Formats: sequence, C-alpha cells, structure tokens
Amino acid sequence: MAGAQNDRQLLATALRLSDAYDQPRLVFRIEDGVEPIAVINIYRHSRFPDQKVHCIHCNGQRHGKGFTALLTDGNRALFGSTCGSEFFGRSWEDREAEFRNQLDRQYELRRIERAKMIAAPLRGGLRSWRLPLERLDAVLRSFERTLPEMWAGLSAAHHARFDRLTLPERIRDHATEALKDGAGARWIVVEKAYAAMAGGGIFEVQSIVSGREQAVEALTDYEAVFNATDGRPTSDLKAKRQRLERSLGALERAFALRSNAAAFFVGRNLAVVAEWHRRRTGEVVAAANGRLSSVAGASVGLHTVPDLPVEPIELAREFRRDD
Ligand SMILES: [Zn+2]
Repeated sequence: MAGAQNDRQLLATALRLSDAYDQPRLVFRIEDGVEPIAVINIYRHSRFPDQKVHCIHCNGQRHGKGFTALLTDGNRALFGSTCGSEFFGRSWEDREAEFRNQLDRQYELRRIERAKMIAAPLRGGLRSWRLPLERLDAVLRSFERTLPEMWAGLSAAHHARFDRLTLPERIRDHATEALKDGAGARWIVVEKAYAAMAGGGIFEVQSIVSGREQAVEALTDYEAVFNATDGRPTSDLKAKRQRLERSLGALERAFALRSNAAAFFVGRNLAVVAEWHRRRTGEVVAAANGRLSSVAGASVGLHTVPDLPVEPIELAREFRRDD
C-alpha cells in the first residue's frame, strides 16, 4: 500500500504522470492468465491531442487521461479514463482526489529537497545582512527623531501622492467671484506640483531588523525537519515552508528599502527635499555631502550603512520560484 511507504519512497514515486509512456514495464497486451490488480498512478498526457494514449481494455488509441494498472505479473498496462473507471469502479477524478494527499506531501518533500540546496548559503547571507540592516534602521529612526517635521511631510507625500511634492499656492477663486457677482476678489489655496522625490519607499513603515531575525528563525525551524519528515503531518511541513516563504518576502522588502535609501540620500534629491521643506514650513535643513542636517547640528546620511549583499535575495527567489 502506498500509505505504508516512507517519504524517501514517496519522493521517488510517480503518482500522476504527464507522459503516460514514461514508466517501466509497460505492456500493450495482457498475457493469458494475467489480471490487472490495482491502479498505481493516473496520467494526464501532456502531448495530447497530438499524441493519444492507447487503452489496453478497448484497444483504442484516443486518450488524454487515464490510469496505469499494475498486473499480476508485475508489468503495467494503460487504461483510458472511461474504460478504467468501468473496470476499476472508480472515476479518474475520484482517483485524483485519492492521490491528492500523497501529491500534496510529495510537493512538500520536493520543496524540502530544494531548501536543502539553499539553506547553508542563505544562512551565511542572512548573517552578512545583520550589520547593514541594523545601521540602516538606525539611520531611518534617527531621521524621524531629529527631523520629525520633514519626516512627516515627506512621508505624507509618499503615501498620499506617490512621492510627488507639492506646495500650497494662493490663487484667485474666479468661479466663486462669478457666482457672487460684485463680492470682490476671493482667494483659495491649491496644492501645486513642485518636484518628485526619489526613494520615497524609505517611508514604508516596517521592521527590517526583526524581519531578518524572523527569517533566520524560520530557516532554523524548517531545517530541523529536513531529515526527519517521516511520520510528520504534511500540514506541519507546509506551515514551516510557508513561514519561511513569508519571511523571505520580508527580505525582499528590506532589500527594496535599502535601494530606496540609496536613491533618497543622493545630493540632488536631498537638495530638492530640503528646499521643498523650507518653502513649506520655513524650517531650514541643510543638505550637503549626502546628509541632511538640522540647525541644531544633528545629521543623517548613509555613510555608516554598508551595501546589502544580493545573495540572500537570489537564494530566496530560487526557493520561491514556481514549478
Ligand atoms: Zn478503452
């Protein structure tokens, strides 16, 4: 019985084939005295309808999906889905549902095999991220703490207007003047485009430091089952994999944040946001040498922040790719 096999065997077992002919001991005629005894896999032939699959029961060659039967002599024979359903008394769809649990487990086992390939380099990569992320986090916190008004204004522009900076402008309200004839000049304030900010993604609130730590924990937790899957519920393997995947998503966001910081802390952009801030609030913030500095002398810049190595992102993508 399939249920009695261990995970090593399950991993090597083809339960659902995309090429019906790609299996051993296939025969196209059943010898006298030999009987089909069990369905051992189902197929959905990927070359159908260009190539149709032969059915040993009706001797027709017109099938796209069906069953493989194990014969009493150890050989295998193909049945089309209709003939096979009649012969074995269960529909192809029922068989697929029956194999579903095993297919789900196979999927998780394959993901673990893939995770084994990336675990060690990913762990090393995550270690290399520790200092850069801690430094970047410190810079952003310092920005928010030492230049709170500027931080709030730029953050609002990022969230409300996709990094477009605007300034209020007083203009004549001709529409109201026309409506209230003779009432004299009326004024309204509108927001006028001023400039675009680069790297506004730094205002996305998130904890990049704990994101990295969670990835390390999720990887450790997943590694613990790498060679100990037998007897462990598939749902458990799936939960550990999904936890790792979520944490890898957080790494992608941290990487994007680092790129945004690099785009934000360049001279031209700093000059633009400082001048915008001065016009909007009257507060003077100096922009020089890749830094923003308050009148009180506190300054923020990326000088102490190393680049983030790209390897963990490449490994994360390798692990998460669909196939
Ligand atoms: Zn048939």
